[in-house]
Amino acid sequence: MDIIDTFVVGMMGYAMPQQYTKGIHIRLRARAFVFGHGDTRVAFVSSDICFITQAVKQTVVERLKKIYGPTMYTEENVMLSGTHTHAGPGGYSWHPLYDISTFGFHDQNFEAIVNGIVNAIQMAHKTAVMGQLSYKSGTLMDSNANRSPSAYLANPPEERAQYEHNTDKEFTVLELTGSGQGFPVGTIGWFAVHGTSMNNTNMYISGDNKGYASYLLEKEMKALDKQRGVKYVAAVAQSNEGDVTPNTRGAFCDNGMPCEVAHSTCGGWSEGCHGYGPGKTDFESTKIIGEHQYTAVKTTRDKGGLTPLSGDIRYMHVWIDMENTTVTPEFSGVGKAAKTCVGALGDSFAAGTTDGPGEFNFVQGTNTSANWYWNWLTSKILAAPTTEDISCHAPKPILFMTGRILFPGKWTQGIIPLQVFKVGQFWIVGVPGEFSTMAGRRLRNKVRQAIVNAGGWTSDSHLVIAGLTNSYTHYITTREEYSYQRYEGASTMFGPFTLNAYEMLYTDLASRIVKGLTPPTSAKPENISSAIFYLQPAVTPDQVPSGLKFGDVAKDANPSYKRGDNVEVLFWAGNPRNNLRIEGTFLDVMKKNSDGTWTVVANDGDWDTKYWFDYVANGGNARIQWEIPSTTVPGTYKIVHYGDYKTGNKAIIQYIGSTREFTVA
Ligand code: ZN
Repeated sequence: MDIIDTFVVGMMGYAMPQQYTKGIHIRLRARAFVFGHGDTRVAFVSSDICFITQAVKQTVVERLKKIYGPTMYTEENVMLSGTHTHAGPGGYSWHPLYDISTFGFHDQNFEAIVNGIVNAIQMAHKTAVMGQLSYKSGTLMDSNANRSPSAYLANPPEERAQYEHNTDKEFTVLELTGSGQGFPVGTIGWFAVHGTSMNNTNMYISGDNKGYASYLLEKEMKALDKQRGVKYVAAVAQSNEGDVTPNTRGAFCDNGMPCEVAHSTCGGWSEGCHGYGPGKTDFESTKIIGEHQYTAVKTTRDKGGLTPLSGDIRYMHVWIDMENTTVTPEFSGVGKAAKTCVGALGDSFAAGTTDGPGEFNFVQGTNTSANWYWNWLTSKILAAPTTEDISCHAPKPILFMTGRILFPGKWTQGIIPLQVFKVGQFWIVGVPGEFSTMAGRRLRNKVRQAIVNAGGWTSDSHLVIAGLTNSYTHYITTREEYSYQRYEGASTMFGPFTLNAYEMLYTDLASRIVKGLTPPTSAKPENISSAIFYLQPAVTPDQVPSGLKFGDVAKDANPSYKRGDNVEVLFWAGNPRNNLRIEGTFLDVMKKNSDGTWTVVANDGDWDTKYWFDYVANGGNARIQWEIPSTTVPGTYKIVHYGDYKTGNKAIIQYIGSTREFTVA
């Protein structure tokens, strides 16, 4: 089968056209929290998605305004953050760069994302109760590592000496407790680590380590949800994970030797240098790093001693032209004014990282244009940097002058949304990209100091960075890290003073919030929704071999299994793109009750099940796997498959199939 026939939707994250969705391991979720005080409210959503795009944020807000009127939920008080999973379907940006490896924009996925987030906010809105917010932070070890340690070392020694580690080990838990109920109705945890436990050969949709951590927190409350009449929602959200990998064993070459450190290469090439997780497989690594985050949140919450939040809720949002921002001497770090640059990605962007190395002859840590051929080619075909661009971005060798590529629309965003929430004494700084560890520390310190200076910081105040929020601008490193031009530095789009500009802008927002001032003047956001392009074929009509029908078993279950066994069955199936079964499932694992009725014990959102679709001769097969957990109650089980097929005249017809009954001992 060639790529077009089996093609479902390209995944977002590793930018590899050959990595597309073939199945589901755990479903992607949007988790929404609405906080209100008096007449003011804010909504925070953490979504299992690589990053939020301007397209998603703007469309979500438009739909919310249709439902709740023009003032309840707006771009100013709704903050959307992505968990940065690299195992989700892509094609949901209006900016063309992000739709290239997915063969264009994908309406169906875009709608699934937007509707998922809108529904999550509606659920939070509907089920809101009076209650108390409180927070606590703690330390989580053995769950993240720096994937560009040589760039981190470029930061001043006296600054590094203030920190024990080259990644942030701190995590923060924000807890929502219903008043008079005494139990949590929601929890948000923030911890900085990439969603790259699943590697770039994976084709299962997965929330990666954070999706799994959130799933575990919610799963253990499920039984109580019914009694309590409230659905508990838990999100383990993203923070400043720019240079932070979950692949904690380190980066090795295929021969088992460590990679060359400064450039992450093996024999001079990036391709062979891969980061390895704590587990033997990427599923196992996802599980381990997910469980660590789950345990950190759970034990912090259960131990108690959280600091209650009090005081009012405030928020501020502004659109900034990040391609034309002047950084004042106070923030530039060079004693005079400095400027941001028109968006561009450097050579090392194409080298990728040890989480997902790139192709061709690019290596990280390049600040001379060693790839003159590619630089010449992209500037001839796409857009050439001006001499001003070249000196503005120096020492970055410019590979893609994305801010000047205008076909079929501006490739990357230049007008950027910045947002800050104050919920009592708890501050959430929403950033439009991936801050490196040290960049995040500097931003937190500067914003905290601005709040102190404005008289708004109390001894129990706390501040977190919410990563990959509202739009995507790749990476933000310190200027020292930038000089190393590793992947993160090469992907710092607006030049060496990008972080300094953000420090200036966010401190301004925070001090305005404390002082009760109006927001600064906003730029006008880019409207490029007309630039989207489609290159993907529609789903072709489904078929089954003659004499069979959809839902028939192609490979049945064995009569009996033991706990720990893997059940693997096949059904004749339609393409899952016919109906994504949102808030539903492609499968149920069911247990027979003593009265002959059936109870669902797992569906396609669960860790123990896997769903996979593939074309075979004369039709399509759904492969369903169930790894029988050791906790399974012995008894009689069956696996049911739900699907939809497309007829020759494009009608979509539902079907159901079931395996034989089998026993688990
Ligand atoms: Zn990333």
